[in-house]
Amino acid sequence: MVPSDHLPKTYDFANVEERWLGRWRDEDFYFVPDSEKPRFVIDTPPPYPTGSFHIGNALNWCYIDFFARYKRMRGFNVMFPQGWDCHGLPTEVKVEEINRITKNDVSREEFRRLCRELTLNNIRQMRQTLRAMAFSVDWSNEYITMHPEYFKKTQLSFLRMLKSGYIYQSEHPVNFCTRCETAIAFAEVAYDERSTRLNYFDFDGVEIATTRPELLAACVAVAVHPEDQRYHHLKGGLLRVPIFSHTVPVVQDEVVDPSFGSGAVMICTFGDKQDVHWWKQHNLSLRKAIDRRGRMTALAAKYDGMTAAECRTAILADMKDKNILKKQEDLDQRVGACWRCKTPIEILSERQWFVKIKPGEILGAAHQIRWYPEHMLRRMENWVGQMEWDWCISRQRIFATPIPVWFCRKCGEMVVPDEKDLPIDPTLTQPDHSCPGCGNNEFIGEEDVLDTWMDSSISVLYVTGWDGSGMPGIFPAQIRPQGHDIIRTWAFYTILRAVALTGQRPWDQILINGMVLGEDGFKMSKSRGNIIVPEEILSKYGADALRQWAATGAATGSDIMFTWNDVVAASRFQTKMWNIARFVLLQLEKEGVDKNIQVTALADRWLLTRLSDTVAKVTEAMEQYQFDTALKAIREFAWDVLADNYIELVKGRLYAKDASRKSACLVLHTAYDSICRMLAPFTPYFAEECYSYLNSGSVHRQPWVTFTYDDPQALLDGDTLSKVVAEVRKFKHDAGLALNAPLGRVTIYTPLAILDEGDMSRTLNAEVRWRTDSVRLDRVVTGIEFNRSVVGPVFKKQSQAFMEAVRMLTPEQLLDPPATINLEGTEVAVPENAFTPRFSYMEGGAMVDVVSVAGVIVTIQRSA
Ligand SMILES: [Zn+2]
Ligand SMILES: [Zn+2]
Repeated sequence: MVPSDHLPKTYDFANVEERWLGRWRDEDFYFVPDSEKPRFVIDTPPPYPTGSFHIGNALNWCYIDFFARYKRMRGFNVMFPQGWDCHGLPTEVKVEEINRITKNDVSREEFRRLCRELTLNNIRQMRQTLRAMAFSVDWSNEYITMHPEYFKKTQLSFLRMLKSGYIYQSEHPVNFCTRCETAIAFAEVAYDERSTRLNYFDFDGVEIATTRPELLAACVAVAVHPEDQRYHHLKGGLLRVPIFSHTVPVVQDEVVDPSFGSGAVMICTFGDKQDVHWWKQHNLSLRKAIDRRGRMTALAAKYDGMTAAECRTAILADMKDKNILKKQEDLDQRVGACWRCKTPIEILSERQWFVKIKPGEILGAAHQIRWYPEHMLRRMENWVGQMEWDWCISRQRIFATPIPVWFCRKCGEMVVPDEKDLPIDPTLTQPDHSCPGCGNNEFIGEEDVLDTWMDSSISVLYVTGWDGSGMPGIFPAQIRPQGHDIIRTWAFYTILRAVALTGQRPWDQILINGMVLGEDGFKMSKSRGNIIVPEEILSKYGADALRQWAATGAATGSDIMFTWNDVVAASRFQTKMWNIARFVLLQLEKEGVDKNIQVTALADRWLLTRLSDTVAKVTEAMEQYQFDTALKAIREFAWDVLADNYIELVKGRLYAKDASRKSACLVLHTAYDSICRMLAPFTPYFAEECYSYLNSGSVHRQPWVTFTYDDPQALLDGDTLSKVVAEVRKFKHDAGLALNAPLGRVTIYTPLAILDEGDMSRTLNAEVRWRTDSVRLDRVVTGIEFNRSVVGPVFKKQSQAFMEAVRMLTPEQLLDPPATINLEGTEVAVPENAFTPRFSYMEGGAMVDVVSVAGVIVTIQRSA
């Protein structure tokens, strides 16, 4: 043990955190492939390498680190990998910004190189934060999705799913962002309320209302309800589209709402999802009036080349000129927009690659997974229940995993590479054999690339070592931790892919964390100016305080508000705990700890019982991932039970060099050691620092606390003992006495005898008697307080006489005052609140103060 005079008076988190960060070794957290221990594999989320590890990430990683450290202490062989999900649009956009280019200004290869370079720099910065926050990441299991060893597996998974029929290509309407010039998946469509205008116009004699007149060129039918009498004459007929003059059929469909507008609607390819339904249902033709860049096509005739917005304005003006625009109304509408750039999406029919969605399979696997909190499973069920289209996985971008496919230039046959040749970029290489269809040797490489979720949805397969040769030995993983915002993407896609590629669920459990809200209770955003970055908290209060906030800020799964108050409270706990540490270590140092002695004193047994209860509660909470419950229980034990109660109770014994001192020292040692180990997952720096003065070796290599101590009577009596002491100390304080000042005699009346080994007497500096009989007290009136603001106005000149009369009353009458009183021969009413009697208590003829606490009466006969 280090001499306690080496302990600085105040806890300097900056110094401590930097020192331990320099000493800890990465190897201590490596997963050991051939270990005999039970394994605990974590499918850590690979964050997008933006360069800053934001506070939402920090919360997520705190949860992971809490249970990763806990599981190690429980004897598990833990894998806490760290991935980086590199591909995607945000990096492309950033590269375009930084280099002031567009992706078309340089070669695809050069553009990718710029993206990779930016990504690697960003990863380097984010690793710093991960380390500073003391996350016990297994750096031997780091992966970077843009690296060949990773994306070769993405390509392998693509080929396997292509072979098994899960993946197919087809021309089909997809959500398309014309700003990003790429298809996007349904999960990437963000819905927003917008106000727009509903335009009523004459459509060959039928009134039609539309919010998108620019789609008139893409009109392929007019739909009416089959029972709508107004349009019976149009059945089977054709209508001529105004301005464009092509003719379209009138179709009948039950879904049309006859009460909306005129009851006739136009069907365009494609205004919305409903158009897609009708288009399929009625086998309508396809008219592409908007291209991938959001411009009108040649089909739009004179509007060719305009943006959709320009076209809308022009068509409305032309409608006015032709006198067919009847009226316009404001309308609030939910519009789907690109999640990334907020541009309203278009639905374009394109040749794209799709993954088949089989809801039954996904739900089956989702139900085999244990969800924390449980209700999050509902979100998955709801999402799966509303899936209508397959997952569009092709993107018309550059910085992504290439789709490993060629097409024969002559006959169009699709040719795939050998799995052993992966990874490949089909735009840079050619197949090593001629076309099996026609023998031709010229091929076109697929230029489309894969949706980034195709990379990240095999993270669990990657970390468990999947190589296509069968089920990896350590698959499925034990847990997936992630935010609730990506249940319908990352969780959904991962389950889909795991089932498709292995026939199995990807993990045993999934732990969902909430979102972090700003101090104003709103989602953090640049425009609100309520963003807090982890680095700011780290520099002001340190990683351990930030980690405590993450644990206690909210129940697992709930959204959590960031507040500096929580961080300050966390930091205060460390200060308090540091004071406890210094005191305890000083006591232990005096004469070492004898671990063989029998603990007999009530206070000692009581503390051990409370410790045992705390350990059970914390362990149970950790098993259920209830970090708030766990850390609060540790704090309460350390602060309230150990520091404020127990230590105060046994201080006298510790100073007295009594033989029972050893027992208290053993208890202090046990409690201190247990607190360090229970705090280790939450405050790794602080726990390590405190533990280092007690024992050699890292607290993070110690087993979890399993301490149990069962003594119900000690718990009961000890609670009484500690409560009485706390109350009498409060009495001393209120009476203006120093806490160590002599107090006289304290008598405690309890139904059962309590033997406290003199602890109370020493703590209170009083003669203490425990009595099991009932207290006998005489109450004497020692004075009467008159309320002059009542007495004066009522009795005026007779006030003195009234007070005299009251003083003549017996103690019983004072307690229960009569309604009237005789004042100079007249009965007058006694007003309410005119006076309050003051009492004192006599016990055995001596004046005592009486305190009632926890159902027991305590009398205090103060020393003269
Ligand atoms: Zn976009
Ligand atoms: Zn061919």
